[in-house]
Amino acid sequence: MSKVLIIGAGGVGNVVVQKCAQLPGVFSEIVLASRTVKKCQDIAASLKRPITVEQVDADDAKQVAALVGKHKPQLVVNVALPYQDLPIMDGCLEAGVDYLDTANYEPKDVAKFEYSYQWNYHDRYKDKGIMALLGSGFDPGVTNVYCAYAMKHYYDEINYVDIVDCNAGDHGHPFATNFNPEINIREITQKGRYWENGQWVEIDPMSIHRDINYPEVGPKASYLLYHEELESLAKYIKGLKRIRFWMTFGEQYLTHLRVLQNVGMTRIDPVDYEGHKIVPLQFLKAVLPDPGSLGVNYKGKTSIGVIFDGVKDGQRKQMMIYNVCDHAECYKEVRAQAVSYTTGVPAMIGAKMILEGKWKGKGVFNMEQFDPDPFMADLNLYGLPWKIIEGKTIDN
Ligand code: NDP
Repeated sequence: MSKVLIIGAGGVGNVVVQKCAQLPGVFSEIVLASRTVKKCQDIAASLKRPITVEQVDADDAKQVAALVGKHKPQLVVNVALPYQDLPIMDGCLEAGVDYLDTANYEPKDVAKFEYSYQWNYHDRYKDKGIMALLGSGFDPGVTNVYCAYAMKHYYDEINYVDIVDCNAGDHGHPFATNFNPEINIREITQKGRYWENGQWVEIDPMSIHRDINYPEVGPKASYLLYHEELESLAKYIKGLKRIRFWMTFGEQYLTHLRVLQNVGMTRIDPVDYEGHKIVPLQFLKAVLPDPGSLGVNYKGKTSIGVIFDGVKDGQRKQMMIYNVCDHAECYKEVRAQAVSYTTGVPAMIGAKMILEGKWKGKGVFNMEQFDPDPFMADLNLYGLPWKIIEGKTIDN
């Protein structure tokens, strides 16, 4: 029986709250706080059990610490934006409470994705006797756990890893992003990067692509991107020679993105507009559909997994672990599309691992550092069942 404080009432926050509310035996009390309290109230009104709602500006560590001090939760789940990671980690440190998030910290003024900012908290968290679990979404998150599971049960060493992320759904809008538009567009428009033979190889944005055959979806054009889990997995996977991340994008999405970039709407530096400073990408976010609202008419599936190539008992072994999720089914269950769902469910399971004491530690941790078995078992129980295809490679 534990109290959890969830910060962020967007698309993902809604799913985390709904899923936690389904498990009163684990999450006996839920506090939901966000910048706009109305969004918390709307989520609360959709639930069958009461929760507490609060307003907080999580850019301010003092406000976070005061909120934690007021409610005394066992754990803070951060599903606000990556910009808030450090102030929320600071607030948890001050209050002496465990921390979990789904995306690594990014400074607002430069699209720089790396774990160093958060790994730097390791000694302070350790000294305080608390833990931080980083990246408990799908990718990062479930993909890291798939890697730990493959390492534990199927391989002596894993040499090649391809994380493949396909959204074959259709939301009916000419252009929309499936999670926070600002974060999404910053991620896609940066340079691509993968890790090979101990080094990072940098490429121009979206300059490498190929068709990948996704389970239950079929072949889709996929683009090599940098994604944050590559950084921690390159550190922890034994025998690794190369790790890459691929994501699908439709022609229509890419054409819109190209135009937006060409006209300067994806810039993240402030520009003068009628005597005010505005950041074009933040303005763009204000006019695009809210990702939390996309679920209503969303059709189709996501198919996300990890393709492994390595060695077991002296024999070469190739396989894939993956999950397929249906947008309309997610909407029926929690009024969310599958991208919010596939992020929110693992955040709930990560929180459950900590509160049940199945994942324990002092310091700052990535998902692959813990025993994957209880997490994998819960994925099957709570909405993200996984399957294995033996012999699957990125080419077949
Ligand atoms: P949304 O934009 O829908 O929601 C973000 C929420 O955070 C909003 O309710 C927003 O409040 C709130 N917020 C923003 N700033 C603050 C602040 N200063 N103080 C308090 N609350 C604040 O985003 P998503 O739900 O789509 O994404 C949530 C997180 O999940 C992001 O970090 C994203 O990167 C991550 N993610 C991770 C994935 C994974 O697989 N690991 C996949 C997809 C997303 P307001 O309503 O006032 O704007």
